[in-house]
Amino acid sequence: MPLLLVPALRSYLKLGFLSLALSSPAWAQTEFQQCLASLRSPAQAAGVKEESFARFTQGLRADMGILEKLNNQPEFRMPIWDYLAVLVDDERVAEGQAQMVKHRDLLHKVETQYGVDPATVVAVWGVESNFGQTMGLYPLTQALGTLSCFGHRQRYFRGEFFATLRILQAGHIAPERLVGSWAGAFGQTQFMPTTFERLAKDFDGDGRRDLMDSVADALASTAYFLSQAGWKPSQVWGFEVQLPAGTDVSGEGRKTKRAMREWAARGLKRADGSALPASDAPAGLMTPTGANAAGGPAFLVFRNFDALYSYNAAESYGLAIAHLSDRLRGAGPFATPWPTDDAGLSRAERREIQALLRSRDHDIGEIDGVLGDKSRIAIKAEQTRLGHEVNGRAGQKLLRALR
Ligand code: CA
Repeated sequence: MPLLLVPALRSYLKLGFLSLALSSPAWAQTEFQQCLASLRSPAQAAGVKEESFARFTQGLRADMGILEKLNNQPEFRMPIWDYLAVLVDDERVAEGQAQMVKHRDLLHKVETQYGVDPATVVAVWGVESNFGQTMGLYPLTQALGTLSCFGHRQRYFRGEFFATLRILQAGHIAPERLVGSWAGAFGQTQFMPTTFERLAKDFDGDGRRDLMDSVADALASTAYFLSQAGWKPSQVWGFEVQLPAGTDVSGEGRKTKRAMREWAARGLKRADGSALPASDAPAGLMTPTGANAAGGPAFLVFRNFDALYSYNAAESYGLAIAHLSDRLRGAGPFATPWPTDDAGLSRAERREIQALLRSRDHDIGEIDGVLGDKSRIAIKAEQTRLGHEVNGRAGQKLLRALR
């Protein structure tokens, strides 16, 4: 969760498939064993019993491939319209709505207890783990053990490693089930281990807080997280707005809250052209790509948007959750288009482009809707052939050209 990479990037990099402990040299394993031995006593001071430490680190080997993840910033910065196109696509809306029907009673109980509505909880679930289907494939003790002994954030990761060992010691999740992202976010909520310890809930009452295999525990934990982050029941996250031409947006943002009546006085309207409510509710003006005559959609955001933001500390992430929750309630896409003539692709369109690349004899690996390194090489080759800008990004233009 709140770490290093937003969820979409995590899956784009196909993190589950690239890492091989095989690539880790013998010197690293020797150093790793020495490091683990040195962690035994601080782990004990942090509440990990000696026999637990021995049991859960037995046979543990470093995975040096994870260090490459830590050190390499993703080379490809995704425009926000690509990010949203993939996270909030028709498939995820349809599946989220089906999940809301399937878990109606549970979601009602969760809302009663924590004050967070079903669409918001299900939107977080859909973005974090695709409704429990994509949770990462890295064994957590290995990933966090490695990061505790190598790399530039050892102190931070040791805290997460010890928390992982405490979670196993308490028997919440079986060791072989505890897998997640390379950076340690795990389960249907993609909590870090220390976040799990603070905020995970046993909502199905079986005595274990199981964010891997219990939907009830996962959804309740998400709602509890948001309630602790300041979520206000029965209030919206915000909404899209129209800005009058020439609105000065410099200095405005999520954190610069002004009373709604002030925004109304400045001429802002709701996206459908209707007047803003004349209230004192504090709202910030968020313009992810600039003022909206030329720049794309603009939003007034309330306190509840900050709660969504805190789940992953990125405004694009908060907007994906917020927008997906609106779509789950039946709303349509944003009224103002993004400032691009080459809009982003849904996951279905990404699978289509992969199939088209494969039909042109490119090796793109699996057709899974995730444009990883192989797909990008193929995309660059086709961009060169077509005389497009060669940047490895696939949008509607390339899709149309390949069709
Ligand atoms: Ca449980």
